[in-house]
Amino acid sequence: MKPNLSNTNSNGVDILFYNGVIYTADKDNTIVEALAVKEGKIIFTGSSKDASRYMTDAGEVIDLQGRMILPGFIDSHLHAPGRALIDLYNISLYESLDLESVLKQVENFIQANPDQEIYYGEGFSLGLFSGEEVSRGPRKEHLDSVCPDKPVVIYSSDCHLAWLNSCAFNAFGIDKETDVPAGGVIEKNPVTGELWGTLKEAAMRLIPEQTFSEHQLEDAILEFQSFLHSLGYTGILSVSIASAPPLEAFYKIGQRDELKLHVNSTVTIEPGFNLTEQVELINAMRKKYSSKYHSVSTVKFFTDGVVEGATAYLLEPYSPAAGKNASYRGELLWNTERLTEAISLVNGIGLQVHVHSIGDASTKAVLDALEMAAVEAPAGDYRNTITHLQLVDPVDIKRFYDLNVIASVQPYWHCKEPGWWDVVDYHMLGERAECEYPLKSFFDTGLKVTSSSDHPVTPYPNPLRAIRAGVTRNITAEGSYGLPLLKDTDDPRGLLNKAERVSLTDMLRSFTINGAYTIFREKITGSLEPGKQADLVILDRNLFDLDPLDLESAKVMSTYFNGEIVYKREV
Ligand SMILES: [Zn+2]
Repeated sequence: MKPNLSNTNSNGVDILFYNGVIYTADKDNTIVEALAVKEGKIIFTGSSKDASRYMTDAGEVIDLQGRMILPGFIDSHLHAPGRALIDLYNISLYESLDLESVLKQVENFIQANPDQEIYYGEGFSLGLFSGEEVSRGPRKEHLDSVCPDKPVVIYSSDCHLAWLNSCAFNAFGIDKETDVPAGGVIEKNPVTGELWGTLKEAAMRLIPEQTFSEHQLEDAILEFQSFLHSLGYTGILSVSIASAPPLEAFYKIGQRDELKLHVNSTVTIEPGFNLTEQVELINAMRKKYSSKYHSVSTVKFFTDGVVEGATAYLLEPYSPAAGKNASYRGELLWNTERLTEAISLVNGIGLQVHVHSIGDASTKAVLDALEMAAVEAPAGDYRNTITHLQLVDPVDIKRFYDLNVIASVQPYWHCKEPGWWDVVDYHMLGERAECEYPLKSFFDTGLKVTSSSDHPVTPYPNPLRAIRAGVTRNITAEGSYGLPLLKDTDDPRGLLNKAERVSLTDMLRSFTINGAYTIFREKITGSLEPGKQADLVILDRNLFDLDPLDLESAKVMSTYFNGEIVYKREV
């Protein structure tokens, strides 16, 4: 595919940008004024004066008038196609801010789609509930009140919990005697022993998976791609949850030359099945579904659950408020020996390991396994990654560096979120929650830190929001909580451990060149240097001039992938 055919000019450049603030993300964090693109590649960066020699023969000349150009953003952990399938075909609860509106939304969808046999939905947060429902999840009776006669299954916004009505339990043959799958929880009423209404983690496998046609999936991926372009993204690591990842849809779109995004995909490996067979299967997928911009590079592991479900694996017991027995610390979903074996198999065929790990005990076990696997494995460039990293034992941070492990963080969560911090994190963890989500500690060791949204867990994956959170460690989108705009970055209401604040440059690198490194594409994208693909985003203002609290006010004006404009803001 040749971009900008109409503009291609055999003597000159296709596009010349000048008079801007162009942050290149090269190793010296160089800022230049001008950049020239020819046949999708950057061929020049430098001063506007030096760029003037391209002016007369350029296909298009763009005066940036002081606007900013950055390398296209790369999100190194999100779940494609995000909310597109839900928005197009299911009950979406991401915008519902209380139980009443959740139930109203379910009821409306059922009325509008009376012929569906099973209703699926997604997007509620445990922050909407109180009392026992915070840790067990919501009760089935709420859903029974709006739908007594057909199965309803609603996944939480973090996708670690499913909420069912009574009819769904019946239809799927789940009752109080059902064997609980390893690594899962079937919540029951502690007094009566009856089903409560939720399934957690591996127990969600008892629910039949919703199927979509290939056509539906491809449409959703294209819609998702446009959404990402509008936020300035040109690359992602698309992470599988429990369901099959959309490898074929990415591959097919790529074959039609409609994939305008660097995409690496993960496939999940599970401890309960034969490891060699699973790794061979993933290797076969790698060969089958790789195309110019899509590769199956990575194997996803879950070694624990989440704090809100009391399934994260901790070094010290949960807080008494969590309602668990006094020594309960959650559980590790893999034993260390088996985890080591799996890592060795995965790295052994040149695939990357990407581990979901929330609790400090879980992360310690993963580092132990990576260390043991490294003893056996041939030296290789694996770029193994641990993601989420809510609690990390400080003594383990240096081990990331020593073992060459990437820390994949979600700075969107690096604050005390109203309606979540008190109700979930502090409630379940107590005082240690004050030290959750290390950030600067990671950067300080010199290891690679890469940022991501975990969208749709983070409903609005605007990288500028995460950049603001990483720089301030304070709440973002205050208005959506009904709070006045922050005037002071030290406002204590949402401030989470300000010692972990990082610089704007660190945050920009985590979303650009470090992201490119994580998806093995730092030689072709992630920075703006001659020879690289022209993947870039134009912002309406210079981030370096802004007060940290104003960082999210910058707007994406346009996004380019391989020198081709893929998003342009309507003015
Ligand atoms: Zn995720």
